[in-house]
Amino acid sequence: MSSKFGSGGRPPQAPPIDPSVILNNSTDVRCEKCGNATFAQVFLIKHISSIASPTGEEGMIPIPTYACNVCNNVNKEFIPAILRKTDERETTTNKITLVKE
Ligand SMILES: [Zn+2]
Repeated sequence: MSSKFGSGGRPPQAPPIDPSVILNNSTDVRCEKCGNATFAQVFLIKHISSIASPTGEEGMIPIPTYACNVCNNVNKEFIPAILRKTDERETTTNKITLVKE
């Protein structure tokens, strides 16, 4: 088997990057609400119903993310995209339910 990446079939390892280069090309992430730039790790907990669970049992899934140290806001960018979409879907479903009632 030949590959354009050579004998291993994997891309060559990237050369080590100087951390100062990364920092010089980075910007601070700030809280969307208050502009603070420090965050603490927190967890989103998703409750999974027995219907959706692969094991058939209800459960909880902790998802690590970051909250503002000052106002506890969680920036949207800190929430995994798949969860944001789920929340939007739930919101839409709730709206439809409300209209029916
Ligand atoms: Zn904040």
